[in-house]
Amino acid sequence: MRVLGIEGTAWAASAALYDSERDDVVIQSDPYEPESGGIHPREAAEHMGEAIPRVVAAVLDHAETTADDDGTGPGIDAVAFSRGPGLGPCLRIVGTAARALAGALDVPLVGVNHMVAHLEVGRHRSGFDSPVCLNASGANAHLLGYRDGRYRVLGETMDTGVGNALDKFTRHVGWSHPGGPKIEAAAEDGEYVPLPYVVKGMDFSFSGIMSAAKDRYDDGHSVEDVCFSLQEHTFAMLTEVAERALSLTGTDELVLGGGVGQNARLREMLAEMCAARGAEFYAPEPRFLRDNAGMIAVLGAKMYAAGDTLPVAESAIDPNFRPDQVPVTWRDGEED
Ligand code: ATP
Repeated sequence: MRVLGIEGTAWAASAALYDSERDDVVIQSDPYEPESGGIHPREAAEHMGEAIPRVVAAVLDHAETTADDDGTGPGIDAVAFSRGPGLGPCLRIVGTAARALAGALDVPLVGVNHMVAHLEVGRHRSGFDSPVCLNASGANAHLLGYRDGRYRVLGETMDTGVGNALDKFTRHVGWSHPGGPKIEAAAEDGEYVPLPYVVKGMDFSFSGIMSAAKDRYDDGHSVEDVCFSLQEHTFAMLTEVAERALSLTGTDELVLGGGVGQNARLREMLAEMCAARGAEFYAPEPRFLRDNAGMIAVLGAKMYAAGDTLPVAESAIDPNFRPDQVPVTWRDGEED
């Protein structure tokens, strides 16, 4: 089976081809990079309008060249797209592109939840059966676990996503977007400065830490020290809640999803915690952690195989699409 995926929830205009027989994923991405400030929804949507046709065309070319030579075209069985969550103006462009492409190829349309895709690509590549997933991305931070046909939100941020919080601090110090990689680099030369640490049961909060980090910087602490402490606090919070989720569910498998998962210190803390309790930890390679259409195509293929396709009339995007709204149709029929 071959599924073409399209992603464009915020910054990455991306298309991918997933070939399930070869277990091969080819991804073409074109990032939106704001000249100043953070992600501006209108500018991001303008980027999607220009870049989505380009990345889709590149993936279609690849599909043509790798299709069975039977003269029936690119050999695509379905088109999958990110329905949400994300920025409405960007999602509308992705939805329109996906509907048009599915119509032109005369194949079914599959509507994918972007956060469940972060989880499923980790589950797919790790071979884990039923892991807890920590999604640490720009706009989100939550723990997901499977129960009775849904991915339940076991714990989540009570305010901003973890990456957005890091990016807000770097904007304050005048660094360009995205801030996460710059914090990671600066933290290498930093030392500990006290900051708040906010975990409430299974939930957590980043906004107070961000305000305190800005204050510490304004009070004269070095940016390296504040970056070091920001990482230690926010990642320790995520690790604490991930451990609690493993403990409460009795699960011994953890997968990581989301762009902040590219951070080596976060992966180190999670790996150490899992090793200490005898659990297995898997972090996908970076191209599957940051926003990408590969994960949309991989989950799209699972949904398509389960008959979980969408009529065009019911394919509206949903900027607030939560992972626990998704009936998980694809796990029962999965091969071992
Ligand atoms: P979502 O999946 O919630 O839609 P998103 O659209 O913001 O997230 P992602 O690609 O998952 O996109 O994550 C982007 C975030 O990852 C940005 O906030 C960026 O600063 C952060 N990030 C990228 N690399 C690193 C890193 N090495 N360390 C920390 N954060 C990072």
